[in-house]
Amino acid sequence: QAVIELRDTSYSYRGGEPLLQGMTLQVAPGSFHFLTGPSGAGKSTLLKLMYAELQATGGAVTLFGQDSRVMDRNAVADVRTRIGVVHQDCQFLDHLSIADNVALPLMVQGKPVGSDLHDLLAWVGLSDRMHAFPPELSGGERQRAALARAVILSPDVILADEPTGNIDWDMSQRVLQLLVELNKMGKTVMVATHDIALIRAAKPQVSTRILRISNKRLQSAGAEL
Ligand code: ADP
Ligand code: ADP
Repeated sequence: QAVIELRDTSYSYRGGEPLLQGMTLQVAPGSFHFLTGPSGAGKSTLLKLMYAELQATGGAVTLFGQDSRVMDRNAVADVRTRIGVVHQDCQFLDHLSIADNVALPLMVQGKPVGSDLHDLLAWVGLSDRMHAFPPELSGGERQRAALARAVILSPDVILADEPTGNIDWDMSQRVLQLLVELNKMGKTVMVATHDIALIRAAKPQVSTRILRISNKRLQSAGAEL
């Protein structure tokens, strides 16, 4: 069964032209997808539909078998624990340390913060930066911290919006490697990016499916890349 399913899904911002139209997609558990397309094509918007931040204005979005239109607040909260999101701008609380920012989803859930936090920070290579504050981090460190926060609740799915947006190539490779590792652990990964070089770099490491938003529609873009 698909973890995320779109059926003839469309989206228009209020008062705007349709941005996404007639999108149909099944995201299989354990798959690794890239979502690409030019800036403004609607990649971020599509990700927001996939974690019920936005509701489709046409067609349906099904998350773990549940139609997102009929989810109540509890169901949305439950889905958010199963889908970890790496936001484009990271969305840290600047007055909290990196360790506290990464642990925040646990605290919000009323769950204990244990040694898992240290293991996770070590995995992303930020053990020595855990007491730093977000404004003190480099772009690559911020992205790795955002990834750690996205996975602290052990989600089944990771959605990452331009996770290598403002960072250099070596650091992009490192972030990619972490995403590949998560996928090898069985997690479903969806990465929105306009960085074709990143998509190419992933090819030898993992079997990916490439989707492109073009003319408001979703197309398979395997051959052209
Ligand atoms: P991408 O991630 O591919 O760059 P976005 O999904 O961020 O694309 O944006 C697609 C289009 O929708 C852009 O033209 C953007 O300005 C517009 N848009 C994004 N968010 C909003 C919003 N909250 N209200 C109105 N328009 C929006
Ligand atoms: P993103 O691509 O992640 O949406 P942006 O920098 O394009 O990032 O937008 C930052 C925020 O502003 C997002 O929450 C987005 O939804 C909102 N936004 C973007 N474009 C518009 C717009 N034309 N009108 C209103 N809100 C917008």
